[in-house]
Amino acid sequence: MEKKKIFITKNANQTKKLGEFLAREIVLSKAEKKALVFSLNGCLGGGKTTFLQGFAKGLGIKEKILSPTFVILKRFKLVKEKNYNNFYHIDCYRIQGSKEMLLLEVKDILKDPKNIVAIEWAERIKNILPKEAIVLQFDFIKKDKRKITLKYHV
Ligand code: ADP
Ligand code: MG
Repeated sequence: MEKKKIFITKNANQTKKLGEFLAREIVLSKAEKKALVFSLNGCLGGGKTTFLQGFAKGLGIKEKILSPTFVILKRFKLVKEKNYNNFYHIDCYRIQGSKEMLLLEVKDILKDPKNIVAIEWAERIKNILPKEAIVLQFDFIKKDKRKITLKYHV
């Protein structure tokens, strides 16, 4: 069954806090046989990267999560986490044309149950994502207000 939760945030910090909260809520309770995948979608400036900054903090990552201008894929080691070893931040905004190399790499990352994988603009590589991926949709309401819809299967 698909479940849906809607959150409204009124500034960037609230979105970070939501990411931090959901990292603890979802990730820390899971131990699956597959990678745990988050598919983040919605417009530019919607708050995907902002959300992931809080999310990474919730996972105990000290490094800063950046909006990757040229980097499409970045790995962070998880030291505090029992069930997972790596957090991958992938941004598909700039992928186009010959993306075979990246797709092969992402497929491998998705196979490893020790990985947590968050993918911005995931719709662009939807065909290789697991059907049980947790979906986050970011909608711009006005300047500092965003609607964040979480969809997951139970
Ligand atoms: P995306 O990764 O979806 O393109 P970013 O997180 O990089 O979006 O950018 C979101 C921008 O919007 C940031 O400059 C952030 O400070 C601003 N912002 C304003 N209000 C919010 C909010 N409620 N949630 C997230 N970001 C917000
Ligand atoms: Mg981004």
